[in-house]
Amino acid sequence: MYPTRPVGFSYHRASSVDEAVSLLGRLEGARPLAGGHSLLPAMKLRLTSPAALIDIGRIPGLNAIEHRGDGLRIGALATHADVADSDVIRGACPVLAEAAGLIGDRQVRNRGTIGGSLAHADPGADYPTVVKALEASIATSGPGGQRFVRADEFFTGIFTTALQPGELVTHVHVPTLPAGSGSVYLKHKHPASGYAVAAVAAVVTVEGGTCSRARIIVGGVTATPTDATAVAGALVGSAPSDEAVAAVAAKIPDALGDSFGDAYASAEYRVHLAGVLAGRALNAAFERAAA
Ligand code: FAD
Repeated sequence: MYPTRPVGFSYHRASSVDEAVSLLGRLEGARPLAGGHSLLPAMKLRLTSPAALIDIGRIPGLNAIEHRGDGLRIGALATHADVADSDVIRGACPVLAEAAGLIGDRQVRNRGTIGGSLAHADPGADYPTVVKALEASIATSGPGGQRFVRADEFFTGIFTTALQPGELVTHVHVPTLPAGSGSVYLKHKHPASGYAVAAVAAVVTVEGGTCSRARIIVGGVTATPTDATAVAGALVGSAPSDEAVAAVAAKIPDALGDSFGDAYASAEYRVHLAGVLAGRALNAAFERAAA
């Protein structure tokens, strides 16, 4: 029998980032609570038992989505539905809105937050793969002040990030892509949860008919999203073609490190899917770049 109730904990609602950081520092075994869609199930199964929950869910302004000069600024409390439905994000970075719209189901999208998803760092989650492909930065606030951590350096292992004890994710900065860019996120999702069995985010830039940049990140297959951009480098300097994309896609499986399998999908199957999705994502990204 699995446990279905968490062990006891104290509950504190923070009304500002400073108050949340102070409570996290002061209360032993304290954890932030945002949408609760990963933390609460884990607590009910007693996979984790924080002594105190610091509810950050009602901190004013922490869900703001803005387009500034150099890109998007997305508050940690923006729900997946906020991101999927945001005209600002749809206009500036459609791939991010599309990925958010693929997360879980409507209930999950209405409660789960971008900050919670990034901090949780589930290997099957969607945002980590996409923000890494978009070369985003994650802003944090903690006892040592504010930091910006590049998405490239943020995910350090399964459910593990570069967040220091007591630090909160406050927002995500997604830089504007250059003109002539196209980006696409594709996933093969688990039919029940929606988590990625394998997923690929591709970002390309085409200038004067020549590919000047190609970035590929693979999610769901390894502990953290794998950067396979070195393989995609073969596309740079030439006009995009089906043959060149197929050659890159064929090499993606070799670029993946320790892949994992589970009851639903073997490691071998996930790796195979990654190659298939990479080919499709690159072709679709080049189509968008040309549009
Ligand atoms: P919480 O559950 O509140 O917190 C998660 C963790 O992050 C906790 O450790 C918490 O302490 C910490 N945390 C939260 N906010 C912050 C912050 N601002 N700063 C620092 N630490 C913080 N995800 C996908 O990507 N794709 C899917 O297809 C998908 N399907 C799902 C299906 C189901 C049925 C469920 C229940 C979840 C699914 N999820 C999926 C996960 C979902 O997106 C979660 O909402 C998300 O992973 C966590 O966000 P949250 O706001 O709910 O965080």
